[in-house]
Amino acid sequence: MARYTDAVCKLCRRENEKLFLKGQRCTSNKCSFEKRGYPPGQHGKSRRFKVSDYGIQLREKQKIRDTYGLLENQFKTFFKKAEREKGITGENLVKMLERRLDNVVYRMGFAPSRKAARQLVRHRHFLVDGIVVDIPSFLVKPGAQIKVRDKSRKLEIIHSSIRRIKEAKPYSWLELDKPSLTGVFVEIPQREDIPLSAQEQLVVELYSK
Ligand code: SF4
Repeated sequence: MARYTDAVCKLCRRENEKLFLKGQRCTSNKCSFEKRGYPPGQHGKSRRFKVSDYGIQLREKQKIRDTYGLLENQFKTFFKKAEREKGITGENLVKMLERRLDNVVYRMGFAPSRKAARQLVRHRHFLVDGIVVDIPSFLVKPGAQIKVRDKSRKLEIIHSSIRRIKEAKPYSWLELDKPSLTGVFVEIPQREDIPLSAQEQLVVELYSK
């Protein structure tokens, strides 16, 4: 399966924003963006030019895509689904991305990053409503229970990650029971509750050209 293999810290530097793609490293003093907060490449530091409307829209799209760790085709598929739903397409898109199983596992605190969450899901470490699901793009429904499988309960990556979560409600739309390594996706979040600084309406403008 195709995947992005270059250094992910370059993505943050390109977007001029921390996208939190590397787990604990992102909050430590090893963060590349903290050390080199300018675009990657030989002329990254000296690059100064006016960005067109198209360029701004493209960067917003890339920012959302990179945050959720998708390739272009996967992102476009989500966008088309969002377009078919009732409501505002941009908001539909972000809400749908939040429902991806890899994202829910990450938000609940079972993994330090979405990338790690994706790998854990692919390796069949989670049950959704009692059934093993190994598809990272699986869309979690409101009320669904996400649980670490019994055979996976000793995985250190899960324990070290969940130790950082303090509350039983890490986000308003999630519930977490740490002792049983179980969480509930209570409801689809409202756009204003989702911590994502991108302007999704610019993605809609980009794709409607
Ligand atoms: Fe981005 Fe995290 Fe790398 Fe910092 S450490 S540049 S936040 S991916």
